[in-house]
Amino acid sequence: MSKKLIAGNWKMNGSLAANEALVQAMLAGIGQPPAEVALCAPAPYLAQLQALLQGSPIAWGSQDVSAHEQGAYTGEISVAMLKDFGCRYAIVGHSERRQYHGETDEIVAAKAQRALSSGITPIVCVGETLAEREANETESVVKRQLAAVIHTVGHCITEIVVAYEPVWAIGTGKTATPEMAQAVHAVLRAQLAAATTNPKRVHILYGGSMNAANAASLLAQPDIDGGLIGGASLKAADFLQIVAAAG
Ligand code: 13P
Repeated sequence: MSKKLIAGNWKMNGSLAANEALVQAMLAGIGQPPAEVALCAPAPYLAQLQALLQGSPIAWGSQDVSAHEQGAYTGEISVAMLKDFGCRYAIVGHSERRQYHGETDEIVAAKAQRALSSGITPIVCVGETLAEREANETESVVKRQLAAVIHTVGHCITEIVVAYEPVWAIGTGKTATPEMAQAVHAVLRAQLAAATTNPKRVHILYGGSMNAANAASLLAQPDIDGGLIGGASLKAADFLQIVAAAG
């Protein structure tokens, strides 16, 4: 496995002024990070990130991408537009998009494929709700979500990043224990191993209330290859501590 990947997901937060202060504080403290680092911003701020982060150790990306190439899709953002602004990553299938925007496994898979077709790495989110966990459906849910992507992208599966984000852990302060997360990551790794001879090439990130205090124990698990960080990516010191914990 290459270096771990720590990616921030700012969600619908930020402003030109706040982003500038946050990014400058991160750049001032990041040095030579022991992990790959990325920030995923709201689309209107991608040009700002490009200007601030070009040539730095921090890559940037979007929080979504259209499954369509171009045309009459009001409000959507194409992968070519993301390329124009230097994005390396696009988050797809975040649970907030599945939940509030009706994104199905098939739509998420099509978005992942669209990103790959232009050389953007999709960060494909999977994860169960609390009700699904309590009904013992965690494995079947995440396997169904990943299977749709494997089915659609075929051998390109080694080019994606997977993020396991239990929905009940997002923004709640409730983190999966390292053992709980590792168990699901092992399931996902085994599923990847059935689809490619190189399953270790795929980063499987954990997301859901990862913070400066719990990052090291999560990142120490054998199949946790990084983190997708929400709230703690809005605080430079916290985010940098998570990056340091990924060494
Ligand atoms: P929090 O770190 O705020 O729980 O968010 C996790 C997440 O959804 C990242 O995509």
